[in-house]
Parts: sequence; structure tokens; C-alpha cells
Amino acid sequence: MTLTRSWVTSANSAKTPFPLNNLPYGVFSINDGARRLGVAIGDQILDVVQTADQLPVDQGVLTDPRGWNGLMDLGSDSWSSFRAALVTLLKDGATEHPDALVPQAGAQMHMPFAVSEYTDFYAGKHHATNVGTMFRGAENALPPNWLHIPIGYNGRASSVVVSGTDIQRPWGQLKGPNEDTPRWGPSQRFDIELEMGAIVGHPSNGPISVDQADANIFGYVLLNDWSARDIQAWEYQPLGPFQAKATATSISPWIVTKEALDPFRCATPAREKDLLPHLRDTGPMLYDVALSVSLNGETIAHTNYNEMYYSAAQQLAHHTTSGCPMRVGDLLGSGTISGPEKENRGSLLELSWGGKEPMTLASGATRSFIEDGDTLALHGAAKGDGYQIGFGDCTGTLLPAAKDPFAQ
Ligand code: MN
Repeated sequence: MTLTRSWVTSANSAKTPFPLNNLPYGVFSINDGARRLGVAIGDQILDVVQTADQLPVDQGVLTDPRGWNGLMDLGSDSWSSFRAALVTLLKDGATEHPDALVPQAGAQMHMPFAVSEYTDFYAGKHHATNVGTMFRGAENALPPNWLHIPIGYNGRASSVVVSGTDIQRPWGQLKGPNEDTPRWGPSQRFDIELEMGAIVGHPSNGPISVDQADANIFGYVLLNDWSARDIQAWEYQPLGPFQAKATATSISPWIVTKEALDPFRCATPAREKDLLPHLRDTGPMLYDVALSVSLNGETIAHTNYNEMYYSAAQQLAHHTTSGCPMRVGDLLGSGTISGPEKENRGSLLELSWGGKEPMTLASGATRSFIEDGDTLALHGAAKGDGYQIGFGDCTGTLLPAAKDPFAQ
């Protein structure tokens, strides 16, 4: 695939994250005005209501207060016809509609869809091996189920926020000096997790195949699963993380559609043990998306979505095996995406090896975990021939903890 040219000239650069090949969906406002649905094109946003007469959906879809859920509700044939109409509208040689464009530079981005449910997985093998080695030793790093199912936990849809939202350091119950004497305090080991989020666009009610799961996914975002490691260490056995993961989860502001990512499909890595038939890959369902993390603007890690052991389709299929209904707007976090080398680690927990090997930044400062005022950003792009499919950054700045919320 090569670049498809647009009459929006900034969309024809090899460097823009938003060429005509991408057309991701977001929600924006200008000067604190009403929220509007938009499509990123170059350094502009197409305000879709302004071109409603050329788009094959009802006005209600383009003014849905939830965001893009209304388009998802229409089903995958409409996802394709809507995208095709956008291509027709914006391609080079089409009638130009400069009045329907808004510069991204002056726009405030909002949640692109209403998150109905949120599940987070633990499906990156390098991450699970690193964390397991730290806590249980190299011989017991992966639990016995890990190579057979994508492990996950039910998260909180209410905690999902859009990129740019400040995050406040949480208070929590932490391990004290003795195993049975906890203490109450602000988290001292606050962390990120570099992940991708898959958005379910078609509902299901009962078990679905991996193929059907792939068909039901609407698109992808970058996702940062903010994690309080000290709260997690005290609470996680036996039911998994709870308050450690409930402060916030940030997502990038643009939904990149499955169709835009199609040229970048790739297979999951070789299986170490055969999966049961219902979870086996039937085709390439991962994506080659280069990912990186920056701390106050300095790159501290880089990896690729193709490192995942399980695809989002496998995760979604597994999620439904019990009969669990899935809804439009269900968000599935991939799990932390690390790679084989130290510089490929997708969390500070791994980068500083549990705080034992602090990172040294270019300024000479060191970090084991996030300090107050630090800005963490996730970046992602699928690299094509002379173009790229970007996601828009997923950023958040850590604010100091509040005063003790229970102090008298
Ligand atoms: Mn996670």
C-alpha cells in the first residue's frame, strides 16, 4: 500500500500521522464550545456534520453525544461505506470543502466513544516473564495457564480518560513493615503500562469464534494502564488487581479503524504449546505497529504491537467462552507490550527492575517510578511505504497526591 493523496495538502506528507489512508475518528471542541465528531486528516479535522449530505448515515449518528458509538451500532457494512464516503470526499481531485476543516492545533480532544465495559489482559509474554521473574523467580515466571489462555481481569469503564487528562497520585493501603500490618499512604511506586486497546463495535451474546471476534472489533487506540505497584503488591492475591488499576486508564484521542490497519496485519509469534482449537489463529490478526514511551519528552522504551502472544481477537473470543455478553463500546486492553531487550520494556517496573536498577535520564536524573510532575506519553504508528498510520499521542501528567482524604 502506498499513500493515497488528499486535497488537504498536509495529509500528503510522509510524516503526518493522519494521511487519507488513516481517517481516524475523534471528538473535539473549540474554545470550550459543543463537542463535535471529527475525522483527522493531515493537520486538520473534518467536522463531519458540515458534510453530512455526503455521508451515508443519519444526522443522529454524526451528532451522537456518546461519540462514535452510533456508527458502531450500525454494523460493519456501514463502517465500510462510511469510510469509503470519507475517502471520496477527501481524496485529491474531489470538490474541496475547506470550510468543513478545523485546525487540530486549536482543538481540544475528548473521549472518542462511550466506554461501556473495560477489561485488561496480561497477554504480552516478555512482560509476563519479566514480572514473573521479579516476583516468583525465572523457573516459575509464567503461571501454568499462561500459554493456554489470555489472562485478564475486569476493569472499570468509569476510570477511562482521554489523553491529556492529568492523573493524580492515588492513596492506598500498602504493605507495612510486617506482612500483617498495612499502612495508609500515597502510592510511591506509580507506573505506566504501554498497551493497545481494542474497541468492540458489534455486540455478542454467547461464545464466538476467533474469526467472529476479529470481525466484531471496530478499531484500536493506544492505552496507558496507570498502575500503583505498591497497592497492587498488597491486594493482588488471590483475585488480581483492584484499586491499583482503578485510578485511571488513558487512551489516545483517535480511534484508528481496523480497515486502516489492514495492510499491517501480521501473525502472532510461534506457539510454545498448541492452543485448544477454539483459541487458535485462523489468519494474521495482530498488527505491525511501532510503539514507544517518552518521559518528559525523552524516549525511554520502544517496542511493537507484533510482540503480543495473543491478538485482541483471541482475547475477545476467550472473553465470550463463558457466555459473557459483549457490548458496543467494550474496551479490551492488550496487556503490557514489552519486547525481548531491556530497551523494549513497556513499564517502569520492568525498566527499573522493580526499582533495583533505576534508569538514568539524559539530564542525569534517575527514575525507578513516576515522580510528581512527570509527563508520560505513548506513541504509535504503523509504517507504510511513504506514509504512516498514527494514533495521536496518549499523554498524562502525574499530579501530586491530594491531602489525606480521611484526615480529620
Ligand atoms: Mn495492564
